[in-house]
Amino acid sequence: MPEGPEVETIRRTLEPQLLGRSLHEPWTSGLKLRSNQNEGALKALEHKPIKALGRRGKLMWIDFAGDMSLLVRLGMTGRLYVKNRAEPTESHTHFRAHLDRGELELRFVDPRRFGDLQVVDAARKQHEINRIGPDPLSWKEEEKLALVARVRASDRTIKDILLDQSVLAGVGNIYASESLFAARIHPQARGCQLSKPRIGKLLEHTAAVLELAVRHNGTTFSNYVDGAGKKGDNLNFVNVFQRTGEPCYVCQKPIRRAVQSGRSTFYCMKCQKCT
Ligand SMILES: [Zn+2]
Repeated sequence: MPEGPEVETIRRTLEPQLLGRSLHEPWTSGLKLRSNQNEGALKALEHKPIKALGRRGKLMWIDFAGDMSLLVRLGMTGRLYVKNRAEPTESHTHFRAHLDRGELELRFVDPRRFGDLQVVDAARKQHEINRIGPDPLSWKEEEKLALVARVRASDRTIKDILLDQSVLAGVGNIYASESLFAARIHPQARGCQLSKPRIGKLLEHTAAVLELAVRHNGTTFSNYVDGAGKKGDNLNFVNVFQRTGEPCYVCQKPIRRAVQSGRSTFYCMKCQKCT
């Protein structure tokens, strides 16, 4: 499942290919994604130059001239990339549009269909952005300080807090496990058990873990690819994610896997503490 660094990698790889260009003859599969596809709304984007590509957490947007935007959610298995029109269309392709009548085509592929493409105006876009918490790849110091207080006041487990997109943007299962290991905090510790300095350190580690993942073009362990169709390298650099039974790089004890809120959590019992 793509998290903040994967979406940021896609944004960065798409940006030079899309800026200044426009979409032509948009096509949709007609199948329901997270919401119903609106071919009429997509048609309204035709011929409008692309002005910017933005992102917060896992939400990406493409801004078009005329104050219209395309919100892109990748969900579990969504992929948005540019391909040559001559290349065969993958199964589960739900959107295609030519770029400036040239050789290139923007395509959205999503086997599980939890992703979404949604045409919105500026007010609706801002509303959707405001629902997401601050993003560690771009947050301001005061947002981080407010977050320390919010975590300290919570009796939820720290892993659940990190995964809550309304609290913190872009952290999913991979980077929650990696950030907690980097900060030596047990995933089942509760926010209120941790001191403010420890929470502050955790947030610094979280930002560093996400930045490192962006430098490695994201983590591919199933089907994530960037905006050019290339896999990410970050799986070569993880400390705990999917390393069940392998020795901890710090203490040599085997990495454990537990199921927490229905999802796998990877951690070291010796290195990571609750308080
Ligand atoms: Zn260890």
